[in-house]
Amino acid sequence: MSFTLIDTHTHLYLDAFNDDREAMIRRALEAGVKQLLLPNIDLESVAGMHALCDAYPTVCFPMMGLHPCDVKDGFEEVLRVMREKFSQRNYVAVGEIGIDLYWDKTTLPIQIQAFETQIQWAKELELPIVIHARDSFNEIFEVMDRLHDERLRGVFHCFTGNAEQAQKILGYGNFLMGIGGVLTYEKSGLAEVVKAIPLEKLIVETDSPFLTPKPYRGKRNESAYVKFVAEKLAEVKQTDLASIATQTSQNARKMFNLPEPSSN
Ligand SMILES: [Zn+2]
Repeated sequence: MSFTLIDTHTHLYLDAFNDDREAMIRRALEAGVKQLLLPNIDLESVAGMHALCDAYPTVCFPMMGLHPCDVKDGFEEVLRVMREKFSQRNYVAVGEIGIDLYWDKTTLPIQIQAFETQIQWAKELELPIVIHARDSFNEIFEVMDRLHDERLRGVFHCFTGNAEQAQKILGYGNFLMGIGGVLTYEKSGLAEVVKAIPLEKLIVETDSPFLTPKPYRGKRNESAYVKFVAEKLAEVKQTDLASIATQTSQNARKMFNLPEPSSN
């Protein structure tokens, strides 16, 4: 295979992969998906994520951060513990962080607080942020407009916004959009939006085990399936898979400071 893909967002430490985690990584590598970026969720997910990154140091790369759905009472202490971890090992990003108003609107004030704190870390540590946005673009843009500066860079992961929201993100300069399985869902309308976004601003992801692309929609998602996203992106951009793989991998490698993939 002459090109490689990077799954820039996969939760492969979750229980959904307990029975076949190794096999799943093998299938990804065989499909040309050579690097896997692991966003953190909460304190419980850290050990499993670290174990995978220790077992596959040239393939799996961890992020550190508190997911907006897990910002609850006592989150300040959780953030304090997470912040210390950055001095103990390397992370490719602060993530995933952001605002989610789909599952719980009542925690919005503390979600904003946690988001702001973690944006501050990213600036101090010179790391990108990986943003989770669900029913919350306005709230996220409000925070970003206040805190964005030339030190801040990152990704709007699993981007499913409209053309106007895409333009707003492009305006921040140093931000990419992560495209996942939703691109393959015709009714999403995402293909039309993505058509107008420069390929230099796009990376691909699975968000596995969630958001499975066609033709496996409805089943568990896994990193090998990022190729279906890339194939659809090639169709949308009227180019070939190799060009998509080359450009999106280059974008991801630059954003996350990744090494060249090893040839295992
Ligand atoms: Zn995620």
